[in-house]
Amino acid sequence: MSDQEKAAKRAQWEEINRAKAAAKQREQGTPDNLEPRASVTQKQFQAIRGSRDLLPPDTALWNHVEQTAREVFGTFGFGEVRTPVIESTELFARSIGGETDVVSKEMYTFPDELDFFRQNLRTISEAMQDEGRLNRYLNLVVVFSERLKDALNANRLPQTETNLDVSQQLADLSSEALGRWNNGKTKPDPEWQNLLGRAETLVWDFDLGDKESLRPEGTAGTCRAYIEHNMQQLPQPVKLYYMGPMFRRERPQKGRYRQFYQIGAEVLGGADAPAIDAELIEMLMTFFGKCGLQGTELSINSIGHSRDNCRRGYVALLRTELEKVKDKLGADSQRRIETNPLRVLDSKLEHEQSVIEKLPRIGDHLCDDCKTHHAAVKHELELRGVVYRENWRLVRGLDYYMRTTFEITAPGLGSQNAVCGGGRYDGLVELLGGPPTKGIGFAIGEDRLILSLEESGKGAAPQGRDVYIAWMGERAYATAIRAAKDLRNADFSVELPPTELKFGKALERASKLGSRFALILGDNEVADGQWTLKTLRDGSQQKLTEQALLEYLRKL
Ligand code: AMP
Repeated sequence: MSDQEKAAKRAQWEEINRAKAAAKQREQGTPDNLEPRASVTQKQFQAIRGSRDLLPPDTALWNHVEQTAREVFGTFGFGEVRTPVIESTELFARSIGGETDVVSKEMYTFPDELDFFRQNLRTISEAMQDEGRLNRYLNLVVVFSERLKDALNANRLPQTETNLDVSQQLADLSSEALGRWNNGKTKPDPEWQNLLGRAETLVWDFDLGDKESLRPEGTAGTCRAYIEHNMQQLPQPVKLYYMGPMFRRERPQKGRYRQFYQIGAEVLGGADAPAIDAELIEMLMTFFGKCGLQGTELSINSIGHSRDNCRRGYVALLRTELEKVKDKLGADSQRRIETNPLRVLDSKLEHEQSVIEKLPRIGDHLCDDCKTHHAAVKHELELRGVVYRENWRLVRGLDYYMRTTFEITAPGLGSQNAVCGGGRYDGLVELLGGPPTKGIGFAIGEDRLILSLEESGKGAAPQGRDVYIAWMGERAYATAIRAAKDLRNADFSVELPPTELKFGKALERASKLGSRFALILGDNEVADGQWTLKTLRDGSQQKLTEQALLEYLRKL
C-alpha cells in the first residue's frame, strides 16, 4: 500500500470514528460542565415553524374562552378529561384512518431516527460500486449498531430475545467489518457483499416497538381512556370535555398551525337518540354565544352508516360518476376517486364546483334508519331554536364519522374559516377494542375562535394593575409590603417595585403599566396613618386610612 493510500485510509477510518463519537455525543447530550465553545456564534432561537408563543395580554382572552367552556359545558353535565399528548401511533392510524392526510402525512411520529437509518441501509447495491460508497455504508452499519445497543440498554426499545440477539449479531458483524477495513480490504468485493448483505437483512428482524405520535386530535385518546378505565360501567352516557394542544405537520398559514389548540367534547355510551346530537350542538352554539362570537354558521349533514344499502352503496355510485368526469377534475380529486371519493366533495377548487354540484347527493341514498335519524336531529335542533344550514357536501376528513356531521364557520378567518367540526362515531370505541358504544363529539379550533374574536374587536382588554405602590424610605417599605399583601388578599392586582424609586419615576411607571391607582407611601403617610391614593386617570388625590382604603377600592 502506498503512503498516499495509507493516508486516505487513515482519513476514512477517522471519519468513521468521528461519526461514532458524534452519534454518542448526540445521544448523551452536551455534558453540563462544558462551556459553550467561544467560536460558535450565539444562535438566536425562535419558536419552530408552525408553532408560536401566546403572550399577555392575549392569554387573558384564551383563559376567558377556556373558562367559558368549563362553565357552559359544566351546565350540560360534562366533566373534564386530560389525556396525554403522546399516544401509540396505532391508536390514531386505526381510529382516524391510515389513508387520511392527518395520519399518512401530518403526524409527528417517534422514533424516526432508527427507522431512517434502516431505510438508508437498503442501498447495498450502491455501496458495492466504489470504495467511497462502501466506506459510507460501513459507517452507517457501525453507527446503527451502536445506536441500537444504546437504545436497548436505555430500555427505549423492547428487550425481547430476538432484539438482544440481533443487536449482538450486528455488533459482531460491524466489528468484523471494521477489522476487514483496517486490514486494507477497502474495495467492494463478494465478501463485502456477503458481510454487509447480512447486515442489511438483519436490521429488518429488529422490532422497533410501538411507534408513538403526538396527538393530532383528541377523540382517539378520549375513547382510549374510556375503554382503559372501564367507563362503560359508569351511568351512560359519559360526557367528557378536553382542551389542549394538538399537533399536525401542515403547511402553516393564517389559522393553521402545527401546534394548535382544540376544545372538544364527547358523549360516549348510552343511546344514539337524535336529542343527544341536537343537545351537543345546542351546547356548542351556547358556548359560542357566551364567548361573544358573532356571524357563526352551522352546517349539518348525515353521511349515513357504512353498509351497502347506505354510505358504501353511495360511495360506489359516486366513484362511478366521478370516473365519468375525471378529466374535468384536478390531480388531487383524481387521486381521491380511488382513495376516498367522499373527499372530492370537500374540494374548494373553483373549476371543480360546477362538476361537483351535478354529482349524486348522499341524502338521496341513505338507508331508511339513517334518513329517519337525520330528520329527527333536525327536528330536535328546531325545538332548541338552533339555526342550521344543510350542506350535503359536508363529509369531514376523518374516517370514523357516521350519520350526523356538522361544521361551524366564523367570520374574519379567510380560507381557514371552520372554527369547529364534529360528528357521530358509533363504531369507534369497538374498533379500538372496547364494547359496542355510541359516540358523538366535536372539536373547536381554539386558535381560530380567538382569531375571529380578535378580528371582530373582542380581543383582550389591556390589563393594567389595579394599584401601583410608590414607596420611599425603609419604614414605608415595610408598610408597602404589608399593604401589597392585604390588597392582593382582597383580590386586587398590585405592583410593588422591588427597589426604591423617586415618586416622580414611580408614578411614571405606574402610568406605563396602565395602573388605575398609585398608593403613595412615604415617611409622612406612615407616621400619620393616612395614606395617599392617586387616581391616575384624572390625577386627583385623597388621604385614606388603611381600612378606609380597602373599603373605598372594594366599592368601585
Ligand atoms: P378536525 O379535528 O380536523 O375535525 O378539526 C376540528 C377543528 O380544529 C377545525 O375546524 C379547526 O378549527 C381546528 N383545526 C384543525 N387543524 C388545525 C390547524 N392545523 N391549525 C389550527 N386549527 C386547526
